[in-house]
Amino acid sequence: MPNFSLSDEVFEGAAAKYPTPFHLYDEHGIRENARALNKAFSWCQDFQEYFAVKALPNPTILRILKEEGCGVDCSSDTELTLADACGFRGRNIMFSANAMPDEEFDHARALGAYVNLDDITHIDILEKHGGIPECVCCRYNPGGDFQISGTIMGNPGEAKYGFTYPQLQEGLKRLKALGAKRFGLHAFLSSNTIDNAYYPALAKILFTCGKKLAAETGLTFAFANLSGGVGIPYRPEQKKTDIALVGEGVRKAYEEVFPEGGVAIKTELGRWMTGPNGWLVARATHHKDTYKHYVGLDACAANLMRPAMYGAYHHITVCGKRNAPCDHVYDVTGSLCENNDKFAIDRALPEIKDGDLVVIHDTGAHGFSMGYNYNGRLRSAEILYCEDGTYRMIRRAETPQDYFATLDMDEAAEKLGVKRG
Ligand SMILES: *Cc1c(COP(=O)(O)O)cnc(C)c1O
Repeated sequence: MPNFSLSDEVFEGAAAKYPTPFHLYDEHGIRENARALNKAFSWCQDFQEYFAVKALPNPTILRILKEEGCGVDCSSDTELTLADACGFRGRNIMFSANAMPDEEFDHARALGAYVNLDDITHIDILEKHGGIPECVCCRYNPGGDFQISGTIMGNPGEAKYGFTYPQLQEGLKRLKALGAKRFGLHAFLSSNTIDNAYYPALAKILFTCGKKLAAETGLTFAFANLSGGVGIPYRPEQKKTDIALVGEGVRKAYEEVFPEGGVAIKTELGRWMTGPNGWLVARATHHKDTYKHYVGLDACAANLMRPAMYGAYHHITVCGKRNAPCDHVYDVTGSLCENNDKFAIDRALPEIKDGDLVVIHDTGAHGFSMGYNYNGRLRSAEILYCEDGTYRMIRRAETPQDYFATLDMDEAAEKLGVKRG
C-alpha cells in the first residue's frame, strides 16, 4: 500500500506556508530507504547504489543521498553537470549511454565516471571521445521475454537498450584490444517490479553471463550492475518490496556463482528510493457535474504526467478526511485542454469541497521530473519536509518569465520582459 507515514498536518502545514500545487518530499523517508538498501547489501564488500538522477533531479535530494553513501546514475550532459555541482566525483558517477551526442562521453570521462555502453557502436565513439578506460560497463539485452516462475515480467526483445550476447562477446574482445582490463555488466529487464524475486533472478543472469564472458575474453569481471526497476506499491492492495529479502536473494545467487567473491554489485534504483517519499499537494478548485462528477485541481498533468502517459494509478487522499467514507465517485482532473489530464478516473473518494487539500501519493520519483509546459502551464515548487520538522523550498515554482526565457529575442519577447542577450 502507498506510504502513509506523514500526517495530514504535515501537508496542511506546508500548504499554509507555500502556495499549491507543490511536490513535498520527506527527508527522513529518503534517508531510511538509502540505509535499508545499504544494509540489505552490506554482505557484499563493494556495494554501491547509483541513484537514477532522472527520477528526482534536485541537488538537495542528491546531496542527502550522497551523505548516505550513494552515487548517481546520469544519462545526459545536464545530469552530469548536476552531479558534478553536487560534488559527485569519479567512480561515484555512472554514465548510462543511449542515443546521446558523442561529446557526452567526453564529459563523463573528464569527470572520471564509469561509462555504461548501450551498444557495440559506442566502443568506437568512446575511443574517440574520452578514450577507453581500464574498466568499462556494458548493457546486456537477453532478448525475448523475461520470466520469473512462468510469469512474463518484461519484454527485453522489444526494448531499445543493450547489446545482444554475441555483441558482448565481440565488443568485450575489442575493448580488451583497446586497453580495457575489467568490465561491468548491466541489465534492466523489468520496470516497477514489486516482486521480491526480480533482483535475484536478474542477478543470476548477470553473474552467470559475466563469469562466462570473463572466461571467454580474458577480461576481469569487476561488477554486476542490477540497475533500477524495483517497484513501489502505488495501489492499496499491493505489497511493499522487502529489500532485506531481496538482498538475501541476491546473496544466494552470488554465493552460488562466486563462492570466492571478488565481484562488486551496483544498483541504480530511482523509484524505490524516493518514489514513496514524495506527494503532489494540490487544492480542489472546481466541481463539475455532467455525465460524470468531476473535481478540478490547481495541479495538472504538467506537474505529474504518469496517469496521463501510462494510465498509472496514484493514490489520492483528502486532508482531514482520511477516515471519512469513500462514498463519492469522481474523475479528478487538471486544467489542460487535453482529456487525458486526469489524476484519477471513477475513483471512490470522500466528498471533496472546493478548497480541500488533495494529496496525490507516490510522486517522489518520475513525478516532477517528467513535468512539461503544455498549455503554458508551469512547473511547481518542490518542498522538503526536513528531519527536524521544518519545511524548506528546494526549488521555486516556475514563473512566466522562465517560460518565455527561451524565446527569440524579438519585440514580443521584450514586451514579455525577456532580457535581450
Ligand atoms: C530509469 C533508469 C533507472 C531507474 O529506474 P527506476 O525504475 O526508477 O528504478 C536506472 N538505470 C537506468 C539506466 C535507467 O534508465
